Amino acid sequence: MDTTGKKIIKKALLKKLSLLNDQRTRYIFSLVQKKPMVHGLPHEVYRKCGKPNCKCARGELHGPYNALSVNRYGWHKIVMVKQADSGKIMKQARRYKYFQQTLARIRKIDKEIGETLEQIKAVATSSYP
Ligand SMILES: [Zn+2]
Repeated sequence: MDTTGKKIIKKALLKKLSLLNDQRTRYIFSLVQKKPMVHGLPHEVYRKCGKPNCKCARGELHGPYNALSVNRYGWHKIVMVKQADSGKIMKQARRYKYFQQTLARIRKIDKEIGETLEQIKAVATSSYP
């Protein structure tokens, strides 16, 4: 490839790298807010009460009731949230969910940054002799 072609590609890659880095920085600072979180993702539970003549027996279940979906070391459970704690705990669970999702986005961006740097290296490197 000629020098001009290489320069154009390198410029495009640098632009991409800059955008990825800006996005990464925004994500990182959105995570360091130091607001409390609870371990678990927001979850809604619908239930049958067991009374034979109730609407739930015909499929119209009661709920939604607030719960947490908790994963830890390979096991998973649903934890019911008391009505009195619901506002606070579900807010913390939404923060936890956002944190988890954003962490995954940051890891994806890190991978893209690595790949882009490899491309820049490839464009800038020649063999000797
Ligand atoms: Zn019922």
